[in-house]
Amino acid sequence: MGGVLNEVTNTVHKQETGKSKFQTECGVTYNLSEEDLRVFRAVESELDGANVSKCGRCFDDAGGY
Ligand SMILES: [Zn+2]
Repeated sequence: MGGVLNEVTNTVHKQETGKSKFQTECGVTYNLSEEDLRVFRAVESELDGANVSKCGRCFDDAGGY
């Protein structure tokens, strides 16, 4: 599963498949600069040991915001 990391807030979003690379399921990246975003391929490995949080709108198990 691919994801998009917002490097400003350290929040991980699910990448929306079939769209341009910075689009996410929650649509938050419409308002963000590509300079603040980073695309990666495996959300799970990115979250391991990283000081990031998951977007509550992209991830049902994130538990709020
Ligand atoms: Zn999101």
